[in-house]
Amino acid sequence: MTASLQPVLIRGHEVVIGLETHAQLSTNSKIFSGAATAFGAAPNTQACAVDLALPGTLPVMNRGAVERAIRFGLAVGSSVASQSIFARKNYFYPDLPKGYQISQYEVPVVQGGQVDFLLGDQKRSVRLTRAHLEEDAGKSLHEDYHGQTGIDLNRAGTPLLEIVTEPDMRSAAEAVEYAKALHALVVWLGICDGNMQEGSFRCDANVSVRKPGMPLGTRREIKNLNSFRFLQQAIDFEVQWQIDRLEDGLAIEQATVLFNPDTGETRAMRSKEDAHDYRYFPDPDLPPLVIGADWIERVRGRDARVAGAHGRALPARRRPAGL
Ligand code: ADP
Ligand code: MG
Repeated sequence: MTASLQPVLIRGHEVVIGLETHAQLSTNSKIFSGAATAFGAAPNTQACAVDLALPGTLPVMNRGAVERAIRFGLAVGSSVASQSIFARKNYFYPDLPKGYQISQYEVPVVQGGQVDFLLGDQKRSVRLTRAHLEEDAGKSLHEDYHGQTGIDLNRAGTPLLEIVTEPDMRSAAEAVEYAKALHALVVWLGICDGNMQEGSFRCDANVSVRKPGMPLGTRREIKNLNSFRFLQQAIDFEVQWQIDRLEDGLAIEQATVLFNPDTGETRAMRSKEDAHDYRYFPDPDLPPLVIGADWIERVRGRDARVAGAHGRALPARRRPAGL
């Protein structure tokens, strides 16, 4: 575990990282509608009335998405909640026609667990806080438009599993190895195609620094990193930026930042919202998600058979520990 190791110091500071990963689940249809999820279709050809948020439409949960969340929970030693709740996360954005995203907030479907991997020849283990089901938003299109923005709602309602870690990682290299292990795991489980260029697996990196022995510092969150190299570069830049500021006697303000691959720099996008800004509340259109022990056992049984048949499918180097 992290605590037993000597921290690697950068200019006298310890680095602290927690990752939030969005894995797009490999279902054929969306999380709350029957529209297709295939990538690359002409804009707005895969958005049905539910995805467009037309009045009177209602969401219906996709069983396949829940099953993939269960499969993930079992693989990382989590507890799969017998009852979890969908909540509305309210915000305004043109690619979010409902005005809210359906997510899980207080009671997620997957709770706890851990991901084990190697960092060089050291065994490491990162604790998971949770993994919850949610829908993706649409996309704003800026290219090909002059003075205007296009909206493509094909991605609206695509199923995501958001996997959140504890702030357990202590270097960019460790965050990259964790992300690679998680990527190998979700692909091996068959719950995500892992295509990072198409956005099927993307990470938000929460980064702070502190003097050894001090309480956690204020974090900044780098959004939407869709390659392991960008993850490494973004954290490296962010750590130096934060230490520069602290050495100048300035405070770090909690913020959401973007990484620019062309310059290798991170830049503040907005001051960070807190949960209360989103006015979360249970979605009255969806009943609690109830998962009986029999369903979990069916998924476990099927996966045991698959693991038996394809135990050597994943190269040993990539094989997630414990599988
Ligand atoms: P949100 O980003 O939605 O506000 P949380 O507060 O739960 O959610 O934190 C999100 C992520 O930030 C988690 O992965 C957590 O481990 C990480 N995190 C929290 N505090 C720190 C910190 N001081 N330094 C680095 N990472 C942190
Ligand atoms: Mg976050």
